[in-house]
Amino acid sequence: MTSLSTIAASIAHSHGNGRSDMHVDAVRDFLAQMITPITDSEPVDLLATLGRVVAGDVISPVSVPPHDNSAMDGFAFDGAQLRAGEPLLLRCVATALAGHACSGIVAPGECVRIMTGAVMPQGLDTVVPIELTSTSDDGRIQIPADAVRAGANRRRKGEDLMQGGIALADGELVTPAALGLLASLGLCKINVRRRLRLAYFSTGDEILKPGEPPCEGAVYDSNRYTLFGLLTRLGIEVIDLGTVRDEPTLIEATFREAASRADAIITSGGVSGGDADHTKAMMQRLGDVAFWRIAMRPGRPMAVGWLNRDTAIGGQRCLLFGLPGNPVAAMVTFLAFVRPALRQMMGCTRAEPPRLRAVCTETLRKRPGRTEFQRGIVSRAADGMLVVRTTGNQGSGMLSSMVHGNGLIVLGHDQASMQPGDTVEVMMFEGVI
Ligand code: AMP
Ligand code: MG
Repeated sequence: MTSLSTIAASIAHSHGNGRSDMHVDAVRDFLAQMITPITDSEPVDLLATLGRVVAGDVISPVSVPPHDNSAMDGFAFDGAQLRAGEPLLLRCVATALAGHACSGIVAPGECVRIMTGAVMPQGLDTVVPIELTSTSDDGRIQIPADAVRAGANRRRKGEDLMQGGIALADGELVTPAALGLLASLGLCKINVRRRLRLAYFSTGDEILKPGEPPCEGAVYDSNRYTLFGLLTRLGIEVIDLGTVRDEPTLIEATFREAASRADAIITSGGVSGGDADHTKAMMQRLGDVAFWRIAMRPGRPMAVGWLNRDTAIGGQRCLLFGLPGNPVAAMVTFLAFVRPALRQMMGCTRAEPPRLRAVCTETLRKRPGRTEFQRGIVSRAADGMLVVRTTGNQGSGMLSSMVHGNGLIVLGHDQASMQPGDTVEVMMFEGVI
């Protein structure tokens, strides 16, 4: 495996920033290079595939739909009988219901009453919707001139998926739609990648657990809870190792336990260089960890690296992210770097939804030289345009701003302040946080 320092040097070089804070793009590049997707897979029951990543292409064993069938309730007939500008009169000789095919040959001048989803009778290729027809005096079905074209309202065999085609490609995420697609193939076991296991804990002597009495100078732990939510939404198996006091022996024991049980570890707090923080020192002792200052706000400090595993356990090294302690900074660094990295590690190839562009309705103060992630509320103005305002105070400890916002306004590295009427990019939160 390439050492962290080798990759870091090459990336810092390619982004031309030797000593200054790292560009967020450099951090993303770095992570993309250092991560290898897990390859282990397992067959799981259809319903259990929701949120999992497909391992290997899923080949369709059947065609969907399996036969040509009707897209409408109406009358099926041979479209070759249609003449431009002329109505058509047909005698209805049978009925085809969904699930009950109509056998037998339909002669010219005849049609079949057909329901949506029913198999097209042999030799018939066109359906006229019932509401377009009338009945003539002699009881025949009358199709007005030019009401339908030959081949209309027929769903072709395999138009959704052909037998032998790729239904879901390797690395696709099983969304509700994909789950339905798998079901439509009649499959009941599907190979998916093993779920990632991730251990996390909070550090800091001032951090209280829920239920502990409040005390001066102490704050309740929120990072473990936002992390629980963020990771659970990614379909990751979480191992919560609690809140760990800033004592070297405790921190070491927790890191060792985490490394022995998980593919990756996330800590929060203690990476910014506070005096009493033993977290940083322990990360350095137990692995190959870099401490970055990233040109971003919120969330400047972040530790990234690998922890060694006890040889008794074997296997690969364990990926480590040390997030800043401030609750918003922890979430923003997670969204900006950790989430894409974990998706890559899960083997997921599905692209993130594109960022929106919205017109800002207030001045956004920003200085060039760092990327800023401001909490925004996107809405639609009366004229139909997307507009965005901030949630107000952007303090990196203000978790309520993440609750009230529906996206992060991303102000790029070189961008300066934005004025009302300027267009900005927004990374929406929906379904993520
Ligand atoms: P640190 O990164 O350890 O310097 O912490 C920065 C700030 O985040 C401090 O005000 C901490 O009290 C706060 N903080 C650290 N960890 C947590 C946590 N798990 N939950 C809530 N706040 C935290
Ligand atoms: Mg701390």
